[in-house]
Amino acid sequence: MKKVLILMLSLAFAVAACEKVPLTGRKQLILVPPSDMLAMSFTQYKAFLDTSRVVPTSNNDAEMVTRVGNRIRQAVESYMNSNGYSKRLEGFQWEYHLVQSSQVNAWCMPGGKIVVYSGILPYTQNEAGLATVLGHEVSHAIAEHGNERMSEGLIANGLLQAGQVATGIATSARSPQTQALFQQAFGVVGPLAYQYGRGLPHSRNQESEADHLGLIFMSMAGYNPAEAITFWQRMAKASGGKAPAEFFSDHPSDSRRIADLQKLLPEAQKFYASARR
Ligand SMILES: [Zn+2]
Repeated sequence: MKKVLILMLSLAFAVAACEKVPLTGRKQLILVPPSDMLAMSFTQYKAFLDTSRVVPTSNNDAEMVTRVGNRIRQAVESYMNSNGYSKRLEGFQWEYHLVQSSQVNAWCMPGGKIVVYSGILPYTQNEAGLATVLGHEVSHAIAEHGNERMSEGLIANGLLQAGQVATGIATSARSPQTQALFQQAFGVVGPLAYQYGRGLPHSRNQESEADHLGLIFMSMAGYNPAEAITFWQRMAKASGGKAPAEFFSDHPSDSRRIADLQKLLPEAQKFYASARR
């Protein structure tokens, strides 16, 4: 009897909790209610901005971050809405900020909460370079990679009740343990939170997926995808083949990443061509 119950539970689990990532179609486990993810994200984002050196929007670079961010957002929204993924954008409150910091990094929290550190601008060099970075980071958010990592954490830590597994929803999403998992998944450390976006290492799968989606979205937004390759070549050169700066520390090796992007380039060029028409 118990075996049957377990089988039924795992079937329900498979049906309820598996979702498909846009564009790649990869199946993933999503257990934390998106509304809870957004609530935690918005609180953390505000706390981060309150304790950071946010560059005023009147600044040219900050304005560029908003402009490129908005173009990526429009491409994402139009693709998601016309391909049956609009549910994934529910409750998004897009926001873009440039933060004064030497870190070579950028991130996007659930719900479209974006930060670009000024330290990455010498590497992005132009709008297409920035679109490469933002396309990648926004893709982590819309592919719900954070929720996926937390869902795996909930299971690994035995934090789910049988009933929650059956519905595929972790009703303990607001519990202290879940909050702690969120902090871990996104690398939130202390009130200054300068470690943001350096949480649990993203799996190689998630990184390659964010590269893939990011390349397509930047192309849809009208940025030449070939610029993504020159951006990564600049980054690779800057790191001199050694342990790279924050932005690429959890990422696949430069040579493999560039080779993968080159393979995806013809597909991306088609989107770029129709975006320019
Ligand atoms: Zn990444």
